[in-house]
Amino acid sequence: MTASVEGRYVRHEVLPEIGPAGQRKLAGSTVFIAGCGALGGFQAELLARAGVGRLRIADGDRVEWHNLHRQILFQESDAESHVLKAEAAAHRLRRINSTIAVETLAIDVNPRNAESLMADADIVLDATDNFETRYLLNDVCIKLRKPWVYAGVIGTRGMVMPVLPGLNGPCLRCVIPTPPKPGTIPTADTAGVLNCAVALIASLEATLAVRILLGAPPAEIGLFHANVWKMSFDLMKVRRDEQCPCCALRSFEFLEGRRPCRTDQSIGR
Ligand SMILES: [Zn+2]
Repeated sequence: MTASVEGRYVRHEVLPEIGPAGQRKLAGSTVFIAGCGALGGFQAELLARAGVGRLRIADGDRVEWHNLHRQILFQESDAESHVLKAEAAAHRLRRINSTIAVETLAIDVNPRNAESLMADADIVLDATDNFETRYLLNDVCIKLRKPWVYAGVIGTRGMVMPVLPGLNGPCLRCVIPTPPKPGTIPTADTAGVLNCAVALIASLEATLAVRILLGAPPAEIGLFHANVWKMSFDLMKVRRDEQCPCCALRSFEFLEGRRPCRTDQSIGR
């Protein structure tokens, strides 16, 4: 089959950071992406092209016209027919790389399905548009000792932080102990979002995913912040909170439904 043609990944294989062994490792990896809108679309496309063997993506939304400026998996006909994002994403990703397994589910991640969606994933990527789901991802990944990458974009700014339970790194709640109250932070609806900011942050998330899958995570965990318009970038040092309710005390309030916190805040703060 031409899709499996030898040399497909040669430009990755010659990279010392990946090499043929790394490429085989990617082919044997499973990534779960929570959402396939702006961040998730870029991540999924990069990882599909990189040859990650299995992509599982959950998103219950449908394609809208106002998604097209930043959600690269979708085109005008998808918005015209108001198609499910999961359906349109699967169609495009399979045309990009037919040699990988693409599983898309037209559902949102919730406390009832979260563990089963992520149980066999090697890493989880945040591409959600609300804090409720991010805290849920954090609970599940800390409980299952699974790496995940938090990210958010708003306006011209974005941030990224890997959470590595296996290395005792800080978790989302060590850094942002409780979800922001509704109405206290800007949303993409009110503040807008620059498509280039999404591309940068999603690319960093995908890079972290590849590094973690290849067993080469960053030595120091930090919260990376970028403002693409101002061309300013910084890495804030973060520390584990020894009293963190999630990673230290292993109380999974969001997974167990004890902390409903629907903020409806679009990507990031
Ligand atoms: Zn923590």
